[in-house]
Order: sequence, then C-alpha cells, then structure tokens
Amino acid sequence: MTSWFSPDWAAPENVVAYCTTRHGGFSTQGYHGLNVGMHVGDSAPAVEKNREILPFHERIHWLNQVHGKKVLTLPSDDTTADAAISRSANQFCAVMTADCVPVLLCDSRGTEVAAIHAGWKGLASNIIAETVSKMVSPSSSLCAWVGPAICGDHYEVPDQIAQVFRSFSDVIKPSPNTQKYLVNLPGIAQLQLKEAGVTNVVASDRCTYCEPLTFYSHRYATHQGLQATGRFVSVIGLR
Ligand SMILES: [Zn+2]
Repeated sequence: MTSWFSPDWAAPENVVAYCTTRHGGFSTQGYHGLNVGMHVGDSAPAVEKNREILPFHERIHWLNQVHGKKVLTLPSDDTTADAAISRSANQFCAVMTADCVPVLLCDSRGTEVAAIHAGWKGLASNIIAETVSKMVSPSSSLCAWVGPAICGDHYEVPDQIAQVFRSFSDVIKPSPNTQKYLVNLPGIAQLQLKEAGVTNVVASDRCTYCEPLTFYSHRYATHQGLQATGRFVSVIGLR
C-alpha cells in the first residue's frame, strides 16, 4: 500500500521519477486518498496537504492540462500545457491522469526529462512526437515509461473516435456493443514513441480501470455513478 512507486526502468541515478497511487492522503468520498487534482471539485486544503506529502513537491511545476498539444520547457511562467520538459534540477515535470496515458522520458546521460499527458486527443494530435522534437537529446538516447492508464479491454469509444486511430489497427478491436470499439491508448502511446524514434520503452502494463482501488479512473468512477473523482500524478526531475 505505497503512496507512490518508481518506474521499473534503467534511468540514470540522478533522475527522480515516481507515480502516485490513491493510498494515503487526506481526501474523502469519491476523491478518497491521495488526490492531487486541484481542478476536480475536491477540497482545496485536502489537495494541498496531499501534494505536500510528495517527494520534491516544492520543485513540481503543476500544469493546467487541457488535452492540447502544447509543450512547455521549464522554467516557465505558463502552466496551460499537456507536456513539460526540464533540463534544470529545480524544475520537476508532472502530469495528472485518471485513465489518460502518462508518459515519462529521460535521456541516458541524465541531462533532460519530460512528462506527457496523452488522452485520446493528445494521442490524436501526437503530443508525444511534439515533445520528443522539442527535447535537445536525440530520440535514440531517450528512454520512456508508459504509466498506468485505461487498458484496451476497458476503453470503449464510438466509431468516430476509433476512426482517428485506424492506422493503429493492432490496438483497436470491435466492441461487443454495436458501432463501438475498444481502443488501447497505452498501446498507441508505445507505437507513437517508436515512430518518434524512442526505442527504449518500458510499459507499466497497469490499468486504472482494472485497479480502481490503487489508481483514480475517470471511467470507473462514472460507471459507479460518481460525478467526479481524483487524479494521480507521474513526476520526473533531475537532482
Ligand atoms: Zn482494464
């Protein structure tokens, strides 16, 4: 029952990376546990206390994520973006998710890191390639971690959304429900990383919907009749 865990990857020693869970924290009801999302209707003091528990929390640059493709290079006065890059030890990148795909990146020398929030809209606009292109490290020197996200068995979408990803036919299948498809978002993220030249990719293979007690899952909460739920965070930085 840990409040956060580290990616199972071979990152340089000076790279700090972790992903939180629901365990611990001060939030209650539908947000129960370690909710770090300030924008989801939870009590602000509870979220602030939750954020203060996090390692290196004072260095985290929190984003206002809008499902776009804008990438910030830190330090920045801006917060509205869905990805961030840092080459400074004082600036940690972070993305909040609850089914969307969190992707963490670092180069093999430990000089540059990035975090990406990729839901279906971010994947459709290829925010992954956008982020990789804005990093100074060659893509061949990067390693990536694909964090907990909704799996291909639990993410059902209408035909119009499935059409957007028709070139990734291996990670889309028809749903038993008519005119619906099951789309594997973390699978698409892995394919887009490879297309962007990042071959060293580690997938967490953990599903937010399959593990609703460990992670926040927007869709699971909706299926439970809840109006809202929390967010967990994937963080990366240099020390
Ligand atoms: Zn699942």
